[in-house]
Amino acid sequence: MRFCEVKIKTLSPTIIPARRVERGYKGQLKYIPSTTLRGAILTSLYMQEYISLEEAKSIGGSYELLVSNAYILDGEFKSYPSHPFMYKCKIPHKDAEKSEEVFESKIFIYEYDVANALKSGIDPKFKFECSRGHAAIEYPHPQPVRKSDKGEEEFKEVDVKVQSMISVGISKRRATSQAGMLYEYDVMVEGQEFWCYIGTSRDDIYERIKSGLEIKIGRGISRGFGHSVLEKVKEISLDDLVEDLKTSGVAVEDRNIIFYSLSPLLEIDDLKSYKPYPSKLNLNLLMEICGVDEKAGVLEIKKVYGKGRTLHCGWDMYGNIRRPIFDHVASEGSIAVGSITNGGNIPLSLALLSLIGYPIKISQNYILTGINMLTPIQIHPFLWGEKT
Ligand SMILES: [Zn+2]
Repeated sequence: MRFCEVKIKTLSPTIIPARRVERGYKGQLKYIPSTTLRGAILTSLYMQEYISLEEAKSIGGSYELLVSNAYILDGEFKSYPSHPFMYKCKIPHKDAEKSEEVFESKIFIYEYDVANALKSGIDPKFKFECSRGHAAIEYPHPQPVRKSDKGEEEFKEVDVKVQSMISVGISKRRATSQAGMLYEYDVMVEGQEFWCYIGTSRDDIYERIKSGLEIKIGRGISRGFGHSVLEKVKEISLDDLVEDLKTSGVAVEDRNIIFYSLSPLLEIDDLKSYKPYPSKLNLNLLMEICGVDEKAGVLEIKKVYGKGRTLHCGWDMYGNIRRPIFDHVASEGSIAVGSITNGGNIPLSLALLSLIGYPIKISQNYILTGINMLTPIQIHPFLWGEKT
């Protein structure tokens, strides 16, 4: 299986509603869900006659194409869902030398008290004050944040640009507007860029993605909404990631590891019973899914810190049925604590888990990907903060 980081650019306004209301759709998601993106890629490959309809269906129900959620890019900066151990002070801090007002933001998970408590399985202390004693601090979790380039700010909040639109319902019969048929939409403004991870065992699909595949995402695509292009593809070296994990010293059996989750978490027994996060993940199966012939052990998740959220698996276009909805699952940006037993190649299994998570078979013909994406926080580009 090959893995890559992909940049997606929206070419027209895009509608990915958070919920349906009486007259239209309200609320715009701040990311592109993995389900939407994976479906759009498969549909596009089929529409452009690179694969047959049968193949599109069969890949949809297999592990051959794994896609994550796509999060907003702010210029050069990748954004990430914030975790619970970060705060922002709402009172501006005025620097005596500079006239500029800054808003202190801190990532405090790496502080000795917090990290050690988490590693020992104890609930860590939360911060309720900033460094100047202001109690007016807020926790952005799970809103998207990015690295900051200013002194007192460790991170910056970012947002998707959204615009409200109202359209008038047109009568089919009379070709005039109908009274009382106003539809409200929140749309993502075009020209915004997102990033995601993709893993695929199909070289032909990898090449198509790499050559700038155009896709259509969200609602209203027949009216020109949701046109996007996969613009830039960067292949990810598993070896580099494995090296990082080895150097970090966290990929060790039987010791607690602190994980950051780039995706929501979920465990399913069958459709009637599911858990807000997996209690055990069989990493051998993940190695198998990724085509690696090595043993990996079991990851037991003991505790999760984060908000609950509702997870919609979208719409099955071929079967024309709504896929399941899971309430109160651990949100993206959650922090999990767990340890590995019976480990084999622990660094490699953790690299795969970070990149593509632990996909879940929802039904005979549907795999939920971009779920349970757990990264040991010490190898995270910035959410670990500065080590002291
Ligand atoms: Zn303050």
